[in-house]
Amino acid sequence: MEIEIATIGGYEEVGRQMTAVRAGNDIVIFDMGLNLSQVLIHDNVETERMHSLDLIDMGAIPDDRIMSDLEGDVKAIVPTHGHLDHIGAISKLAHRYDAPVVATPFTIELVKQQIEGEQKFGVENDLVKMSGGESMTIGDHGVELEFVHVTHSIIDAINPVLHTPEGAIVYGLDKRMDHSPVIQDPIDMKRFREIGREDNGVLCYIEDCTNANKKGRTPSENVAREHLRDVLYSMEDYDGGIVATTFSSHISRVTSLVEFAKDIGRQPVLLGRSMEKYSGTAERLDFVDFPSDLGMFGHRKSVDRTFKRIMNEGKENFLPVVTGHQGEPRAMLTRMARGETPYELDDGDKVVFSARVIPEPTNEGQRYQAERLLGMQGARVYDEIHVSGHLCQEGHYEMLDALQPRHIIPAHQDLKGFSGYVDLASNQGYQMGRDIHVTRNGNLISIVD
Ligand SMILES: [Zn+2]
Repeated sequence: MEIEIATIGGYEEVGRQMTAVRAGNDIVIFDMGLNLSQVLIHDNVETERMHSLDLIDMGAIPDDRIMSDLEGDVKAIVPTHGHLDHIGAISKLAHRYDAPVVATPFTIELVKQQIEGEQKFGVENDLVKMSGGESMTIGDHGVELEFVHVTHSIIDAINPVLHTPEGAIVYGLDKRMDHSPVIQDPIDMKRFREIGREDNGVLCYIEDCTNANKKGRTPSENVAREHLRDVLYSMEDYDGGIVATTFSSHISRVTSLVEFAKDIGRQPVLLGRSMEKYSGTAERLDFVDFPSDLGMFGHRKSVDRTFKRIMNEGKENFLPVVTGHQGEPRAMLTRMARGETPYELDDGDKVVFSARVIPEPTNEGQRYQAERLLGMQGARVYDEIHVSGHLCQEGHYEMLDALQPRHIIPAHQDLKGFSGYVDLASNQGYQMGRDIHVTRNGNLISIVD
């Protein structure tokens, strides 16, 4: 069976991930993501109303025109998890393919919300739920799609595996090896080891190189949780304002913030549009059980009303968890820092960033500004209470050891980002150009002709 891999997006950047695998006549697409920084750099861009080709020209969504060079039928579109760099282009591209979107329940729900917000295209692809540990048949030639449960900074993440008569193709974006996560099961390493040893083994492994230049092991979410506990417990006797911010989609972290707020005698409240969206979705789908009195507010009016209530009843009784961990100009924390909300910061008030700045010049600049503004109001900043969602070098070593793939394609980075991974794999006996395929966006790699 011919096996061909199209590296469509996310091979020159972090963002707009998209890869297609052709096994004979059957094609499966993995991820259809958005490169948010290419959108945010322009002011007043409303992607909901924009045409795909304009977004492709901006570098915001994958340039999928190479798909016409692949001979076969697309049988499924498979986003691995709900981050925008993996699902954000579905509303712009999926309608061009006569295939269902197959993903885990939480991811499907986020895809559904995104399609509902789309105003340019009618996206009518079927949405099919499949959980980690489950499989489905693709086409009529012995190809199976399996979801292996992994741990990442969003719940319900999987690595899809396409089993073909030539061996398995493992699409390894995005994960860390968490053996004691705060929500859901640990990563299913047992299954990866089995796949590495069964039938024809692993033909090709496509790997997330986000942290491939970082030594050591990415800690468990439990480490971030204990760090956060230490920081918040240290503030137990403080009788002023405490505000926290984190990734809205990071449900485990939001859960820890809510829990520790209660522990130090404060009422947690989630504020900001995406805070309400992700936490509300996770709660509705029963992934979390928040306290029944937890408020979640997204709309400007209800947020302002909540801030007024906090000011009236005393800041010392509340812990607002807000959007704006990257200093995004329109997010809640930045608005608070600019004095645009009814919440008044006083000298000595605490601002807890349970996040790390995504190392990208736009983010770094915006975050710097937000922190300066907070500082001018006298706020004390607690930063980097966080662990990454991506494997570092020892995780990559363990994955190679478990899967023993015959071919490797580094992904989810630019060339500089790939370098650490190429070194590591070379030390394990792989060779550039022979079985390590360093590539760019828009290439076709023939693995079996
Ligand atoms: Zn991700």
